[in-house]
Amino acid sequence: MVDLRSDTLTKPTAAMLAAMASAEVGDEQYLEDPTTNELQRRTAELLGHEAALFLPTATMANQAALRAQTTPGSVLLAEERTHVLVYEWGGPAVHSGLIMRGVPAQAGRVRPDDVAGVLDPDLGPGGIVVLENTHRSSGGRIWPLDDLRATAGAARERGAAVHLDGARLFNASVAAGIEPSAWATLADSVTICFSKGLGCPTGAILAGSAALIERAWESKYLFGGAMRQSGVLAAAALYALDHHVDRLDEDHARARRLAEGIGLDPAGVETNFVAIPDPDGDVEARAADAGVLLGHLRPGWLRAVTHLDVGDEDIDVAIAALAPQLVNTV
Ligand SMILES: *Cc1c(COP(=O)(O)O)cnc(C)c1O
Repeated sequence: MVDLRSDTLTKPTAAMLAAMASAEVGDEQYLEDPTTNELQRRTAELLGHEAALFLPTATMANQAALRAQTTPGSVLLAEERTHVLVYEWGGPAVHSGLIMRGVPAQAGRVRPDDVAGVLDPDLGPGGIVVLENTHRSSGGRIWPLDDLRATAGAARERGAAVHLDGARLFNASVAAGIEPSAWATLADSVTICFSKGLGCPTGAILAGSAALIERAWESKYLFGGAMRQSGVLAAAALYALDHHVDRLDEDHARARRLAEGIGLDPAGVETNFVAIPDPDGDVEARAADAGVLLGHLRPGWLRAVTHLDVGDEDIDVAIAALAPQLVNTV
């Protein structure tokens, strides 16, 4: 089986496990875990923010970011199939009492007009706009800097905070040749996920101002995400920063080759996702019969995701297996 369901399927490499095994550790909650402290220092710098906080998952990082910057009853605005709205189990409503408003948007890019239309200062205070880069449900699409700047500006004009869900920000950065801080500094807070293409078993970073990170600590305790010798996990993240970022362009090249090989336009592949139309809902089962596992992208669409554990031969096998299944679909 060639498994292209998700880039979360990566398993830690032997070298990553060795880095984890030899990590210097202490009690994170006493601020005495040197490896976690180093990861937080390094990612804050990389993202152009004052401070950063290590959390077990990017879901928790997103939820902590929302809770740190909103009051109950205010509005969360995002593209309608954004991760925080669709895949976080109602967390913004449960943890922060937010009204969740989704708007349709091309390539996941909420526009300034959408913000102006939804965030009415007369109807309540503040609020928060969540922007996702790369945008998962549109197929790993990248936000152009100017677009993100304009939408973030519209949010601020209405007194709303801006959170960037950059779970795959490094994919955007490597593909576009733009520093991650260029996007990250346009937002008040930013999440990075280490368990996608970066290949870690788990782990995420939330970055923002020192005051925001102080508030996020409250959620880290409240959600049960305050750890102890977390340096074992932070060591995997540090290893990934050194060894698994630059190589993301291999994943992107393989995704483009896969798209081309199955008759899709490779220009539509911006990072490590290939969006595969599935209008009749039978492609997933037919692909599985042919030996290829695909994931769900959005209604009517599947995804093939490349990552650290998908090699050139896997792409050859996937093309040979999928091309005949898709003749009448794409
Ligand atoms: C996977 C993902 C998350 C959540 O990551 P976890 O670490 O698995 O909780 C958040 N946002 C986006 C866009 C994601 O793709």
